[in-house]
Amino acid sequence: MAILDCAIIGGGPAGLTAGLYTTRGGLENVTMFEKGMPGGQITNSSEIENYPGVTGEITGMDLMMPWPAQCQKFGLKHEMVNVIRVTKSGDTFTIHNEDGTNVNAHSVIIGTGSSPRRAGFKGEDEFFGKGVSTCATCDGFFYKNKEVVVIGGGDTALEEALYLAKICSKVYLVHRRDTFRSAPNTVNRLENTENIEIILNSSPDEVYGDNMGVTGIRIKNSSGETRDIEVPGVFTFVGNDVNNQTLIQEDGTFLCDMNEQGQVIVDISMKTSVAGLFATGDMRIAAPKQVVSAAGDGAVAALQAISYVDEFFN
Ligand code: FAD
Ligand code: NAP
Repeated sequence: MAILDCAIIGGGPAGLTAGLYTTRGGLENVTMFEKGMPGGQITNSSEIENYPGVTGEITGMDLMMPWPAQCQKFGLKHEMVNVIRVTKSGDTFTIHNEDGTNVNAHSVIIGTGSSPRRAGFKGEDEFFGKGVSTCATCDGFFYKNKEVVVIGGGDTALEEALYLAKICSKVYLVHRRDTFRSAPNTVNRLENTENIEIILNSSPDEVYGDNMGVTGIRIKNSSGETRDIEVPGVFTFVGNDVNNQTLIQEDGTFLCDMNEQGQVIVDISMKTSVAGLFATGDMRIAAPKQVVSAAGDGAVAALQAISYVDEFFN
């Protein structure tokens, strides 16, 4: 395969926007490497109401549906593959794929995003997929007219609790502090939803069940008192970890400079410490973790990648 002008790793809002801007901006040989369906983590969201210009009830999947076709119209190619490593030798990057293929590129825009974190309570791993879930839109329907517990106090936990409250008979929202991280408007909606019981200053202690799945959860409050809630479903929304694995080199070091949280250090042009490598979206330092900012990063990185390729390879 001919050397790519630009390899894009990840097909979320950041990667897809980078794909649109690189191809439409004149780079001819651009491939996006995405291990699943393009769209990114927002496709798991039941509702998005803060993407500019998009009004009305719309799911994350609805929002992202047209993005890949728009990019392909301008020539973006898509490889459905898991990238295991990105390396650089001289001026050339190599994308090492899980299927054994290697692809070379002049520039790389990485936007591999982040993934849901485990909360770390007893039974969480054992019952993951058998009553413990991190995706309300995927699994909420299994609990139609049943009671569920939601863990967390950020935007994701509250929004997904509101979504589940429309399907389930009752939602217990368990948060470890007495204030939420979520937007005030969302907190207001939560507090005004009849079938949501808010339990503050409490953390999950143990999820238990039988060979059919979860039957309940024991939570503990800040005074050490425990309470058992009998539910078949527990949804955890306790934040995300950065997907930076593809930047780890064979000797265990990172390809570019990272901060102590494993986020890629970039400047305002999305340039990393390695020439020709740009990092975008949720995986970069100080990311606002929004679709609109991830898309903005993708556009900025693409314009920089075009200038870089023009300057050094054309
Ligand atoms: P991601 O969306 O995480 O995309 C990364 C992509 O890279 C994924 O498709 C993944 O499959 C792919 N990938 C990862 N590793 C590899 C690899 N090794 N090889 C190949 N492909 C790989 N934001 C808002 O603005 N408004 C909201 O209402 C909102 N609601 C949310 C609700 C939920 C439930 C969640 C989880 C997030 C929400 N967010 C919301 C945040 C928003 O989804 C993220 O900020 C945004 O998706 C980040 O985009 P990204 O492109 O950086 O990464
Ligand atoms: P988050 O903001 O990091 O919130 C995680 C929540 O989980 C916090 O309330 C945290 O408690 C709690 N928590 C963490 N570890 C825990 C544990 N082990 N046990 C129990 N509780 C635990 O994560 P998020 O809600 O997924 O949001 C991630 C980012 O995406 C944020 O920047 C958010 O704004 C953004 N996002 C935006 C929207 C939107 O704009 N509508 C929607 C979804 C997500 P503490 O509060 O005590 O730390």
